[in-house]
Amino acid sequence: MIISTKKGTPQVELDRIIDNFEHQGLSVTLIRGTDYNVFGLVGDTTKIAEKDVLANPWVENVTRVSAPYKRANRLFHPEDTVVDVNGIKIGGKSPIAVMAGPCSVEGEEHTLKMAKLVKAGGANFLRGGAYKPRTSPYSFQGLGTEGILDLVKAREATGLPIVSELMDEAHIDEFEEYVDVVQIGARNMQNFQLLKAVGKMHKPVLLKRGLANTIEEWIMSAEYIMAGGNENVILCERGIRTFERATRNTLDLSAVPVIKEKTHLPIIVDPSHATGDYKYIESMALAAVAAGADGLEIEVHDNPQCAWSDGAQCLKPEKFAETIEKCRKVAAAIGREM
Ligand code: PEP
Ligand code: MN
Repeated sequence: MIISTKKGTPQVELDRIIDNFEHQGLSVTLIRGTDYNVFGLVGDTTKIAEKDVLANPWVENVTRVSAPYKRANRLFHPEDTVVDVNGIKIGGKSPIAVMAGPCSVEGEEHTLKMAKLVKAGGANFLRGGAYKPRTSPYSFQGLGTEGILDLVKAREATGLPIVSELMDEAHIDEFEEYVDVVQIGARNMQNFQLLKAVGKMHKPVLLKRGLANTIEEWIMSAEYIMAGGNENVILCERGIRTFERATRNTLDLSAVPVIKEKTHLPIIVDPSHATGDYKYIESMALAAVAAGADGLEIEVHDNPQCAWSDGAQCLKPEKFAETIEKCRKVAAAIGREM
Protein backbone atom coordinates (compact mmCIF):
# COMPACT_ATOMS: atom_id res chain seq x y z
CA MET A 1 0.00 0.00 0.00
CA ILE A 2 1.31 3.45 -0.89
CA ILE A 3 0.21 6.53 1.05
CA SER A 4 1.05 10.11 0.21
CA THR A 5 0.54 12.96 2.66
CA LYS A 6 -0.44 16.54 2.02
CA LYS A 7 2.02 19.40 1.44
CA GLY A 8 3.32 20.71 4.73
CA THR A 9 2.30 17.75 6.92
CA PRO A 10 4.15 18.32 10.23
CA GLN A 11 6.78 15.79 11.35
CA VAL A 12 4.70 14.87 14.40
CA GLU A 13 1.86 13.73 12.09
CA LEU A 14 4.26 11.74 9.90
CA ASP A 15 5.59 10.02 13.06
CA ARG A 16 2.02 9.25 14.14
CA ILE A 17 1.28 7.61 10.79
CA ILE A 18 4.44 5.50 11.01
CA ASP A 19 3.65 4.47 14.61
CA ASN A 20 0.08 3.56 13.75
CA PHE A 21 1.06 1.18 10.93
CA GLU A 22 4.06 -0.28 12.76
CA HIS A 23 1.71 -1.11 15.64
CA GLN A 24 -0.35 -3.08 13.14
CA GLY A 25 2.69 -5.19 12.31
CA LEU A 26 3.62 -3.51 9.02
CA SER A 27 6.98 -2.21 8.00
CA VAL A 28 6.85 1.39 6.86
CA THR A 29 9.29 3.15 4.57
CA LEU A 30 9.14 6.94 4.29
CA ILE A 31 10.29 8.62 1.09
CA ARG A 32 10.80 12.32 1.73
CA GLY A 33 10.10 14.79 -1.04
CA THR A 34 10.56 18.57 -0.98
CA ASP A 35 6.83 19.18 -0.62
CA TYR A 36 5.20 15.78 -0.30
CA ASN A 37 6.03 12.61 1.60
CA VAL A 38 5.23 9.09 0.47
CA PHE A 39 4.94 5.97 2.65
CA GLY A 40 5.37 2.44 1.45
CA LEU A 41 3.60 -0.17 3.63
CA VAL A 42 4.89 -3.72 3.44
CA GLY A 43 3.20 -6.72 5.08
CA ASP A 44 -0.36 -7.95 5.35
CA THR A 45 -2.43 -4.89 4.46
CA THR A 46 -5.68 -6.88 3.96
CA LYS A 47 -6.98 -5.56 7.30
CA ILE A 48 -6.50 -1.93 6.27
CA ALA A 49 -9.29 -0.17 4.40
CA GLU A 50 -8.34 2.71 2.12
CA LYS A 51 -11.22 4.83 3.38
CA ASP A 52 -10.03 4.49 7.00
CA VAL A 53 -6.57 5.72 6.01
CA LEU A 54 -8.19 8.67 4.21
CA ALA A 55 -9.96 9.61 7.44
CA ASN A 56 -6.63 11.19 8.46
CA PRO A 57 -6.88 14.78 7.17
CA TRP A 58 -3.13 14.82 6.42
CA VAL A 59 -3.44 11.93 3.98
CA GLU A 60 -3.73 12.94 0.34
CA ASN A 61 -3.90 9.62 -1.46
CA VAL A 62 -3.91 5.85 -0.86
CA THR A 63 -3.09 3.22 -3.48
CA ARG A 64 -3.48 -0.47 -2.88
CA VAL A 65 -0.77 -2.46 -4.62
CA SER A 66 -2.04 -5.96 -3.81
CA ALA A 67 -5.62 -7.24 -3.70
CA PRO A 68 -7.48 -7.12 -0.35
CA TYR A 69 -8.07 -10.89 -0.47
CA LYS A 70 -5.53 -13.59 0.26
CA ARG A 71 -7.10 -17.04 0.36
CA ALA A 72 -8.91 -16.67 -2.97
CA ASN A 73 -5.95 -14.90 -4.59
CA ARG A 74 -4.24 -16.75 -7.42
CA LEU A 75 -0.99 -15.01 -6.51
CA PHE A 76 -0.65 -17.15 -3.36
CA HIS A 77 -2.22 -20.29 -4.87
CA PRO A 78 -1.26 -20.55 -8.55
CA GLU A 79 -2.91 -23.96 -9.18
CA ASP A 80 -6.63 -24.11 -9.95
CA THR A 81 -8.80 -25.30 -7.08
CA VAL A 82 -10.70 -28.44 -8.00
CA VAL A 83 -13.83 -28.99 -5.92
CA ASP A 84 -14.83 -32.61 -5.45
CA VAL A 85 -18.54 -33.32 -4.99
CA ASN A 86 -19.13 -37.03 -4.33
CA GLY A 87 -16.36 -37.84 -6.81
CA ILE A 88 -17.46 -35.32 -9.48
CA LYS A 89 -14.79 -32.68 -9.94
CA ILE A 90 -15.39 -29.03 -10.80
CA GLY A 91 -12.60 -26.66 -11.87
CA GLY A 92 -9.13 -26.95 -13.37
CA LYS A 93 -9.16 -29.29 -16.34
CA SER A 94 -12.17 -31.26 -15.07
CA PRO A 95 -15.09 -31.84 -17.44
CA ILE A 96 -17.53 -28.92 -17.54
CA ALA A 97 -20.20 -29.51 -14.88
CA VAL A 98 -23.90 -29.23 -15.66
CA MET A 99 -26.34 -28.37 -12.85
CA ALA A 100 -29.94 -28.45 -13.98
CA GLY A 101 -33.45 -28.72 -12.66
CA PRO A 102 -36.45 -26.61 -11.79
CA CYS A 103 -36.18 -23.28 -10.01
CA SER A 104 -38.33 -24.55 -7.13
CA VAL A 105 -38.76 -28.10 -5.91
CA GLU A 106 -42.36 -29.03 -6.78
CA GLY A 107 -42.96 -32.26 -4.90
CA GLU A 108 -41.57 -35.78 -4.87
CA GLU A 109 -42.97 -37.08 -8.13
CA HIS A 110 -42.08 -34.00 -10.17
CA THR A 111 -38.56 -33.80 -8.71
CA LEU A 112 -37.89 -37.42 -9.59
CA LYS A 113 -39.24 -36.91 -13.09
CA MET A 114 -37.10 -33.81 -13.60
CA ALA A 115 -34.01 -35.53 -12.18
CA LYS A 116 -34.36 -38.35 -14.71
CA LEU A 117 -34.98 -35.91 -17.56
CA VAL A 118 -32.03 -33.63 -16.80
CA LYS A 119 -29.76 -36.63 -16.27
CA ALA A 120 -30.77 -37.99 -19.67
CA GLY A 121 -30.11 -34.52 -21.14
CA GLY A 122 -26.53 -34.40 -19.85
CA ALA A 123 -26.74 -32.93 -16.35
CA ASN A 124 -24.48 -34.31 -13.64
CA PHE A 125 -26.11 -32.34 -10.79
CA LEU A 126 -29.76 -31.78 -9.89
CA ARG A 127 -30.66 -28.26 -8.79
CA GLY A 128 -33.85 -27.18 -7.05
CA GLY A 129 -34.77 -24.57 -4.47
CA ALA A 130 -36.64 -25.64 -1.34
CA TYR A 131 -36.20 -22.24 0.32
CA LYS A 132 -36.90 -19.51 -2.21
CA PRO A 133 -35.76 -15.88 -2.02
CA ARG A 134 -38.83 -14.22 -3.57
CA THR A 135 -39.22 -10.50 -4.19
CA SER A 136 -42.81 -10.63 -2.96
CA PRO A 137 -43.74 -12.12 0.42
CA TYR A 138 -46.96 -13.34 -1.25
CA SER A 139 -45.12 -15.46 -3.84
CA PHE A 140 -44.45 -19.16 -3.25
CA GLN A 141 -41.69 -19.42 -0.64
CA GLY A 142 -40.59 -23.01 -1.23
CA LEU A 143 -41.49 -26.41 0.21
CA GLY A 144 -38.84 -26.21 2.94
CA THR A 145 -37.68 -29.48 4.52
CA GLU A 146 -40.20 -31.44 2.46
CA GLY A 147 -38.52 -30.08 -0.69
CA ILE A 148 -35.06 -31.03 0.57
CA LEU A 149 -36.29 -34.57 1.19
CA ASP A 150 -37.77 -34.69 -2.33
CA LEU A 151 -34.33 -33.84 -3.69
CA VAL A 152 -32.75 -36.55 -1.53
CA LYS A 153 -35.15 -39.14 -2.98
CA ALA A 154 -34.30 -38.00 -6.50
CA ARG A 155 -30.60 -38.33 -5.69
CA GLU A 156 -31.16 -41.86 -4.38
CA ALA A 157 -32.92 -42.80 -7.61
CA THR A 158 -30.55 -41.12 -10.10
CA GLY A 159 -27.22 -40.71 -8.28
CA LEU A 160 -27.19 -36.99 -9.14
CA PRO A 161 -25.72 -34.85 -6.34
CA ILE A 162 -28.12 -32.11 -5.26
CA VAL A 163 -27.64 -28.33 -5.26
CA SER A 164 -30.00 -26.20 -3.20
CA GLU A 165 -30.10 -22.69 -1.81
CA LEU A 166 -29.51 -22.02 1.89
CA MET A 167 -31.07 -18.78 3.13
CA ASP A 168 -31.02 -19.17 6.90
CA GLU A 169 -28.42 -20.29 9.41
CA ALA A 170 -31.22 -22.18 11.16
CA HIS A 171 -31.17 -24.72 8.30
CA ILE A 172 -27.46 -25.45 8.36
CA ASP A 173 -27.77 -28.86 10.05
CA GLU A 174 -30.39 -29.91 7.51
CA PHE A 175 -28.15 -28.87 4.60
CA GLU A 176 -25.08 -30.46 6.20
CA GLU A 177 -26.99 -33.73 6.40
CA TYR A 178 -28.78 -33.79 3.05
CA VAL A 179 -27.45 -31.35 0.45
CA ASP A 180 -24.29 -31.90 -1.64
CA VAL A 181 -23.67 -28.31 -2.81
CA VAL A 182 -24.90 -25.40 -0.71
CA GLN A 183 -26.00 -22.53 -2.93
CA ILE A 184 -25.76 -18.99 -1.58
CA GLY A 185 -28.04 -16.92 -3.75
CA ALA A 186 -27.39 -13.53 -5.29
CA ARG A 187 -29.49 -11.78 -2.65
CA ASN A 188 -27.40 -13.22 0.17
CA MET A 189 -23.98 -12.70 -1.39
CA GLN A 190 -23.22 -10.08 1.21
CA ASN A 191 -25.07 -11.67 4.12
CA PHE A 192 -21.82 -11.81 6.05
CA GLN A 193 -23.28 -13.69 9.01
CA LEU A 194 -24.50 -16.43 6.67
CA LEU A 195 -21.15 -16.47 4.83
CA LYS A 196 -19.32 -16.95 8.14
CA ALA A 197 -21.69 -19.79 9.01
CA VAL A 198 -21.18 -21.63 5.70
CA GLY A 199 -17.45 -21.09 6.19
CA LYS A 200 -17.79 -23.60 9.04
CA MET A 201 -19.72 -26.12 6.93
CA HIS A 202 -18.21 -29.26 5.42
CA LYS A 203 -20.01 -28.98 2.10
CA PRO A 204 -18.92 -27.18 -1.09
CA VAL A 205 -20.53 -23.77 -1.52
CA LEU A 206 -21.86 -22.34 -4.78
CA LEU A 207 -21.59 -18.57 -4.29
CA LYS A 208 -23.70 -16.61 -6.75
CA ARG A 209 -22.74 -13.06 -7.67
CA GLY A 210 -24.88 -10.35 -6.07
CA LEU A 211 -27.40 -8.43 -8.16
CA ALA A 212 -25.29 -5.28 -8.14
CA ASN A 213 -21.91 -6.33 -6.86
CA THR A 214 -18.46 -5.82 -8.28
CA ILE A 215 -16.16 -8.74 -8.92
CA GLU A 216 -13.96 -7.61 -6.04
CA GLU A 217 -16.91 -7.59 -3.62
CA TRP A 218 -17.86 -11.06 -4.84
CA ILE A 219 -14.32 -12.36 -4.25
CA MET A 220 -14.36 -10.77 -0.79
CA SER A 221 -17.52 -12.79 -0.05
CA ALA A 222 -15.71 -15.96 -1.15
CA GLU A 223 -12.89 -14.86 1.15
CA TYR A 224 -15.36 -14.78 4.09
CA ILE A 225 -16.27 -18.42 3.48
CA MET A 226 -12.65 -19.46 2.98
CA ALA A 227 -11.48 -17.52 6.06
CA GLY A 228 -13.93 -19.63 8.06
CA GLY A 229 -12.11 -22.78 6.93
CA ASN A 230 -14.23 -23.89 3.98
CA GLU A 231 -12.02 -23.66 0.89
CA ASN A 232 -14.47 -25.44 -1.42
CA VAL A 233 -16.05 -22.42 -3.03
CA ILE A 234 -17.44 -22.38 -6.57
CA LEU A 235 -18.40 -18.98 -7.98
CA CYS A 236 -21.45 -18.49 -10.19
CA GLU A 237 -21.93 -15.54 -12.54
CA ARG A 238 -25.71 -15.04 -12.89
CA GLY A 239 -25.97 -11.59 -14.44
CA ILE A 240 -25.94 -8.18 -12.83
CA ARG A 241 -28.29 -5.19 -12.85
CA THR A 242 -27.55 -2.61 -15.49
CA PHE A 243 -29.67 -0.01 -17.29
CA GLU A 244 -30.58 -2.64 -19.90
CA ARG A 245 -34.13 -3.98 -19.58
CA ALA A 246 -34.26 -6.27 -22.63
CA THR A 247 -32.99 -9.10 -20.43
CA ARG A 248 -33.72 -9.74 -16.73
CA ASN A 249 -30.05 -9.06 -15.93
CA THR A 250 -26.91 -8.45 -17.97
CA LEU A 251 -24.65 -11.48 -18.18
CA ASP A 252 -21.13 -10.33 -17.39
CA LEU A 253 -19.25 -13.04 -19.27
CA SER A 254 -15.97 -11.21 -18.86
CA ALA A 255 -16.23 -12.18 -15.19
CA VAL A 256 -15.09 -15.68 -16.25
CA PRO A 257 -11.57 -14.71 -17.43
CA VAL A 258 -11.30 -12.02 -14.73
CA ILE A 259 -12.12 -14.50 -11.94
CA LYS A 260 -9.70 -17.01 -13.45
CA GLU A 261 -6.95 -14.42 -13.50
CA LYS A 262 -7.54 -13.09 -10.00
CA THR A 263 -8.52 -16.29 -8.19
CA HIS A 264 -7.93 -20.03 -8.34
CA LEU A 265 -11.60 -20.88 -7.73
CA PRO A 266 -13.88 -22.61 -10.23
CA ILE A 267 -16.49 -20.40 -11.89
CA ILE A 268 -19.74 -21.50 -13.47
CA VAL A 269 -22.36 -19.49 -15.38
CA ASP A 270 -26.14 -19.41 -14.94
CA PRO A 271 -27.68 -18.24 -18.23
CA SER A 272 -31.24 -18.69 -16.86
CA HIS A 273 -31.14 -15.98 -14.20
CA ALA A 274 -28.78 -13.91 -16.34
CA THR A 275 -31.24 -13.52 -19.21
CA GLY A 276 -34.62 -14.39 -17.66
CA ASP A 277 -35.74 -15.70 -21.04
CA TYR A 278 -35.60 -19.29 -22.30
CA LYS A 279 -34.92 -18.03 -25.84
CA TYR A 280 -31.50 -16.65 -24.90
CA ILE A 281 -30.25 -19.48 -22.71
CA GLU A 282 -28.66 -21.58 -25.44
CA SER A 283 -26.55 -18.80 -26.94
CA MET A 284 -25.34 -17.65 -23.53
CA ALA A 285 -24.57 -21.24 -22.46
CA LEU A 286 -22.46 -21.73 -25.61
CA ALA A 287 -20.71 -18.42 -24.98
CA ALA A 288 -20.04 -19.35 -21.34
CA VAL A 289 -18.39 -22.61 -22.35
CA ALA A 290 -16.33 -20.78 -24.99
CA ALA A 291 -15.28 -18.23 -22.36
CA GLY A 292 -13.85 -21.00 -20.17
CA ALA A 293 -16.60 -21.53 -17.58
CA ASP A 294 -16.14 -24.63 -15.43
CA GLY A 295 -19.84 -25.38 -15.43
CA LEU A 296 -23.38 -24.25 -16.17
CA GLU A 297 -26.45 -23.94 -13.99
CA ILE A 298 -29.63 -24.06 -16.07
CA GLU A 299 -33.27 -24.09 -15.02
CA VAL A 300 -35.24 -26.86 -16.70
CA HIS A 301 -38.96 -27.61 -16.45
CA ASP A 302 -41.21 -30.04 -18.32
CA ASN A 303 -44.08 -27.55 -18.27
CA PRO A 304 -42.60 -24.05 -17.91
CA GLN A 305 -45.96 -22.26 -18.14
CA CYS A 306 -46.99 -23.97 -14.92
CA ALA A 307 -43.66 -23.78 -13.08
CA TRP A 308 -43.98 -22.60 -9.47
CA SER A 309 -41.25 -20.00 -10.12
CA ASP A 310 -39.07 -18.69 -12.97
CA GLY A 311 -40.95 -20.55 -15.73
CA ALA A 312 -39.98 -17.96 -18.36
CA GLN A 313 -36.30 -18.83 -17.96
CA CYS A 314 -36.65 -22.62 -17.92
CA LEU A 315 -35.69 -24.79 -20.86
CA LYS A 316 -37.90 -27.72 -21.73
CA PRO A 317 -36.03 -31.02 -21.30
CA GLU A 318 -35.64 -31.64 -25.07
CA LYS A 319 -34.23 -28.15 -25.64
CA PHE A 320 -31.94 -28.60 -22.64
CA ALA A 321 -30.53 -31.84 -24.10
CA GLU A 322 -30.00 -30.14 -27.46
CA THR A 323 -28.26 -27.19 -25.78
CA ILE A 324 -25.87 -29.44 -23.85
CA GLU A 325 -25.09 -31.37 -27.03
CA LYS A 326 -24.12 -28.12 -28.75
CA CYS A 327 -22.12 -27.01 -25.70
CA ARG A 328 -20.13 -30.25 -25.93
CA LYS A 329 -18.97 -29.26 -29.40
CA VAL A 330 -17.78 -25.88 -28.15
CA ALA A 331 -16.09 -27.60 -25.20
CA ALA A 332 -14.29 -29.96 -27.57
CA ALA A 333 -13.18 -26.99 -29.72
CA ILE A 334 -11.44 -25.43 -26.71
CA GLY A 335 -9.99 -28.76 -25.54
CA ARG A 336 -12.36 -29.48 -22.65
CA GLU A 337 -14.59 -32.39 -21.88
CA MET A 338 -18.20 -32.02 -20.98
C1 PEP B 1 -31.97 -19.61 -8.13
O1 PEP B 1 -30.93 -20.22 -8.44
O2 PEP B 1 -33.11 -20.10 -8.22
C2 PEP B 1 -31.86 -18.20 -7.68
C3 PEP B 1 -32.77 -17.65 -6.90
O3 PEP B 1 -30.77 -17.59 -8.19
P1 PEP B 1 -30.17 -16.12 -7.90
O4 PEP B 1 -29.81 -16.12 -6.45
O5 PEP B 1 -28.98 -16.07 -8.81
O6 PEP B 1 -31.22 -15.12 -8.25
MN1 MN C 1 -34.79 -19.40 -10.20
